[in-house]
Amino acid sequence: MSRPWPQLDLLPLERWGPGIERPLLIAGPCSAESEEQLMAAALGIRSHAPTVRVLRAGIWKPRTRPGAFEGAGEPGLRWLRDAGNATGLLTATEVATPQHVEAALKAGVDLLWIGARTTPNPFSVQALADALAGVDVPVLVKNPVNPDLHLWVGALERLNHAGIRRLAAVHRGFSWSGRTTFRNAPMWEFPIRLMAACPGLPMLCDPSHIAGRTDRLAEVAQQALDLNFSGLMVEAHPDPGNALSDGEQQVTPTALGALLQSLAHRAARPDPVLRDLLDELRDQIDQLDADIAQKLAERLDIAERIGLYKQEHNVAILQPERWERIMAAQHEIGRRSGLSPAFIEAFMNAVHQESIRRQTEAWERAQVPTQAPPAQAE
Ligand code: PEP
Ligand code: MN
Repeated sequence: MSRPWPQLDLLPLERWGPGIERPLLIAGPCSAESEEQLMAAALGIRSHAPTVRVLRAGIWKPRTRPGAFEGAGEPGLRWLRDAGNATGLLTATEVATPQHVEAALKAGVDLLWIGARTTPNPFSVQALADALAGVDVPVLVKNPVNPDLHLWVGALERLNHAGIRRLAAVHRGFSWSGRTTFRNAPMWEFPIRLMAACPGLPMLCDPSHIAGRTDRLAEVAQQALDLNFSGLMVEAHPDPGNALSDGEQQVTPTALGALLQSLAHRAARPDPVLRDLLDELRDQIDQLDADIAQKLAERLDIAERIGLYKQEHNVAILQPERWERIMAAQHEIGRRSGLSPAFIEAFMNAVHQESIRRQTEAWERAQVPTQAPPAQAE
């Protein structure tokens, strides 16, 4: 049996301190690359996106494979502090070890965040919590790379036990081997469930790591605001084309300003759990519908592959016994889940028809020669 969700002792965002308000807008480059780059980012953000309050920059970069740019390290902390001082922006960086915490706090970084590759490791999170015990600094916890709500809650709990009350979660999407058009699948049901499990926990969205490209940032950011998120963390770089990490998803400060202006900020509702229940349920329905559509698309892709295999081996598309077995299995699942036989029948028949249509289409496509036959030798 799983344990009940913890009661976190949290300070509302509005009481985090000067400069912090809802929506909390954080922006800056993926990585601090040089003194000039970070200063240019900060000045650009200050003038083009004046609603941004916090300058972000990764000083130590967790790269999936060695050999990529792993961050400027400690010298970058001074660049971050100087850029913050020059613009009046608060500063934020990612910490993954107690040494990072110590160095960042010594340099006066205002907010710390725990990255998606660190959150899922309870040893690392506990080491960070121990390093932060008795330190009053805001900490943002990104979701674990894998879609596991318990690991996300566990990390928040460990930090809260260490006395961190200025605590927020950041939704940055999940690694997903299934079909998704995002860099990291948003799986909105996870942040929604976390907001329901931990009332009063501010939830921010990082659309940059979800979208993985700039043309979908607005769509993701708007969705987050519509779901009553408390703010955004967006990657912005003065010269994204030459960025040393995550170039494809970073916007210029000018584009950041336009993006933020284009978003409709919903009226702040004080507490996610007090939201109109109907809205909450509708969000869940929308999410489930999106999941169903994605699963159906995956199913049809596989049916199409089976169709091509049948064609190669000269087997008819329609295999009645196989279909009878599928139907019987679905009726059994439906019976156990409270779905009526008539619904199962209608739904599965629609799926079947579409599979056959896709298989037939794939056959036809495969029969069209893709290149001219080689010319006959004289
Ligand atoms: C980042 O914010 O640049 C970063 C590395 O994010 P994540 O941990 O979400 O991948
Ligand atoms: Mn990044």
